[in-house]
Amino acid sequence: MMEPVTAKEPKLVFLNEALGTELGLDIDALDKEYAARVFTGAEAQSEGGLLAMTYSGHQFGQFNPQMGDGRAALLGEVIDIKGQRQDIQLKGAGRTAFSKGGDGKAALGPVMREYIISEAMHALGVPTTRSLAVATTGEYVYRDAVLPGAVLTRIASSHLRIGTFQFFAARGDIEGLKILADYAIDRHYPDTKTSPNQYLGLLEKVISAQASLISKWLSIGFIHGVMNTDNMTISGETIDYGPCAFMDQYDHNKVFSSIDRQGRYAFGAQPAIGQWNLSRLAETLLPLMDDDEDKALEMAKTALDQYGPIFMASWTQEMAPKFGMVPNKEPETDREIIRQFLSLLQKHNVDFTNSFQSLTIALMNEEGLKKVKAIFQEDGSFDIWFEQWKARIGSSEQEISVACKIMTRANPIYIPRNHLVEEAIDVATSKGDFSFMEKLLKAIGTPFEKKAGFNRYELPPKPEEEVHQTFCGT
Ligand code: AMP
Ligand code: MG
Repeated sequence: MMEPVTAKEPKLVFLNEALGTELGLDIDALDKEYAARVFTGAEAQSEGGLLAMTYSGHQFGQFNPQMGDGRAALLGEVIDIKGQRQDIQLKGAGRTAFSKGGDGKAALGPVMREYIISEAMHALGVPTTRSLAVATTGEYVYRDAVLPGAVLTRIASSHLRIGTFQFFAARGDIEGLKILADYAIDRHYPDTKTSPNQYLGLLEKVISAQASLISKWLSIGFIHGVMNTDNMTISGETIDYGPCAFMDQYDHNKVFSSIDRQGRYAFGAQPAIGQWNLSRLAETLLPLMDDDEDKALEMAKTALDQYGPIFMASWTQEMAPKFGMVPNKEPETDREIIRQFLSLLQKHNVDFTNSFQSLTIALMNEEGLKKVKAIFQEDGSFDIWFEQWKARIGSSEQEISVACKIMTRANPIYIPRNHLVEEAIDVATSKGDFSFMEKLLKAIGTPFEKKAGFNRYELPPKPEEEVHQTFCGT
């Protein structure tokens, strides 16, 4: 439960109407003032309050047994129009029992960042929590600077985290752990109920879901930034957008987050960290899997050993279409083509997203090929790579046309580039002008469709526009 919510002047500045409709909201009937009170938490006081959930977590490798929703709380659950149960959480509505020294509030900037990036992820086909609304509170929050306060309404298929399991395991509360695991199975993976060992089944499902999720992050150049175990869901949805960002130039070691000094959560480190986090989940499930600890360990180990192959298969499935390659019987050959291309991107500091647009055009005509050769600075190894890639795709007109079609469907034109996100935040924070955010949301809402008047949104930042660091904003 929370302390009373006291937004001084609640104002609804963004409402995701499409998502609202999916949740069964009657958007036309919605009174904006009432909605502003609901989406800042003020109305919840009279209707049973908001619920904050406890969890533990490994934060940058250090175990913290007592964490919890310190600046987020559950408003309620709904069954959406597809029959799926969804949590509705308010992020930034005020202090909870788990706020410790924090104010439980959120500044407008991080709220906007989460709204923009989570909606971009959804449009790119990546499992994610969604954003339903942004409401400003009319109050200020005190960080390094004095900033306008806001509340994000977040939708998730649940807020169960690896850290939720760690909370019960750390206390040796096997009964609580079992209730939690049964609940997670019911809510997310009901099929596992029929498997011979449903807790092993749960572990296997989460391993697959996370491997698939992280492979999708890699295919779009996304860096989560804070892959602590409390920020990893059981459902396999991306959650807790903090200092996350999309990279412009390809860099395997790229880090944006100001707090990730060791590069623990760097772009290319994400798959391995995913496995590390899943090992922490596996540890919590051991007592449920078998009374015999050795047997349980063996089962968990076998399941975790599958992470690598599952990840590799998912990554190939995500990456191959970016090159117009239809899966064949030699995935390792395709992976080699993909890896070599990534090395060339790294060597020549090429923009990740746009490199695939350039490749598509290079397939289509001589002019395009000339341009892409210039991008790779007339590097002879690019020419060799290009010939190998073309040989893999096939050189008939029909084969090339099929490849181009696959690439167009797989490669986004618009991603929420960091400088554009920052610009939208700056203008809104300093002038109360949300038009930049609106336009950015239009660009990223249909990321594979070229739109007139959106040329700027395709381009990487100019050197003076580049954003080197992102902050949690907490
Ligand atoms: P994060 O890694 O951003 O998800 O946050 C880590 C932890 O810090 C979570 O348990 C949050 O609930 C808590 N936290 C972050 N910001 C605040 C805040 N302003 N007030 C209280 N708790 C916070
Ligand atoms: Mg978190």
